[in-house]
Amino acid sequence: MSFLEEAGHRKSSLNLKDLDLQEMTQLVRTLNQPDYRARQIMEWLFRHGVTDLAAMSNLPLSLRQQLAEIAHPGVAEVVARWQAADGTTKYLLRLSDGETVECVYMLYSYGATACVSSQVGCRMGCLFCASTIGGKVRDLTCGEMYEQVLVMNRDQKKKVNRVVVMGIGEPLENYDETLKFIRLLHEPYALNIGYRRITISTCGLVPGIKRLAREGIPLTLAVSLHAPNDELRNKIMPINRQYPLDQLLAACREYTEMTHRRVTFEYVLIKGLNDSPECARELAGLLRGMLCHVNLIPVNYVPERGLEKPEPRVIAAFQRLLDEAGISVTLRRELGSEIMAACGQLRRSQNTR
Ligand code: SAH
Repeated sequence: MSFLEEAGHRKSSLNLKDLDLQEMTQLVRTLNQPDYRARQIMEWLFRHGVTDLAAMSNLPLSLRQQLAEIAHPGVAEVVARWQAADGTTKYLLRLSDGETVECVYMLYSYGATACVSSQVGCRMGCLFCASTIGGKVRDLTCGEMYEQVLVMNRDQKKKVNRVVVMGIGEPLENYDETLKFIRLLHEPYALNIGYRRITISTCGLVPGIKRLAREGIPLTLAVSLHAPNDELRNKIMPINRQYPLDQLLAACREYTEMTHRRVTFEYVLIKGLNDSPECARELAGLLRGMLCHVNLIPVNYVPERGLEKPEPRVIAAFQRLLDEAGISVTLRRELGSEIMAACGQLRRSQNTR
């Protein structure tokens, strides 16, 4: 069934933000409108972020009315908003079916970053993560991901110029909608965000990484590594049993060869589990010679998980060992920890599921 037939069945249920330019063109043709109307609608939706079809002032009134009969502009309701002293703002959004997701706005010296969720919940089961506790409910659509960025742009003075798909969910499990979202972000009639300023973070779905490498777009790939060997990674991340480290790293090498982009490895540091000097040395050995960067993240405390971050001197020692081994490494600056910016904590605290 095409998206138009689907919309016909569920009257007024079509989210206009789920359409790309080609699909929007199809839609305006069925309404007997010239093709250029599609681009106008795209600009209102994706660049200006209007929340009401009535605001599309260069469209004939009759077209706005016709549109309103079959579709809506996909506006999420902000259920809660927390702002930290450093400007980090976390939003809890309610979607059209009542499900909720969270997204985070972060201010850096070089601009503003939107951290976007890709699924409602997650089924990857990582040991330290709050998002996965209730499992996965469903994938988000392209329009639902885009709306997260627009919520921030409507609310914040400094507009989003970087996007990281690092919120709730596994983006490469929701591949098509995530890529559609990213391509839309990049369009000149939308927010025109450079691909290099967009990051997809994955727990390591190897087929998805290989597919991404062949898209021909220079996205930043971040891979959640969290352990330097299979034995430990199996304990922390169940996905490692399906795609062990040798396969994962081979896919990452392929990604850098095809895109000439360095891969970022995220490494959550957990007290007593993966923070020893041996782990640091093993990690350095594993990544030697790769075009990559390591981002160390002291684990955010999630009550249900009970895992703690290492002492500052242990973190510093871990970082120093990587640095001395010639691995590019940074320690993630902690933003907004007082507003529970750690993945999935807000949605859970609202007892939504
Ligand atoms: N599924 C994707 C993207 C979502 S998680 C992935 O696994 O990469 C985004 C990042 O936040 C991952 O690196 C993840 O490991 C990290 N993360 C999740 N829970 C965390 C916590 N409690 N403390 C610190 N980082 C966490």
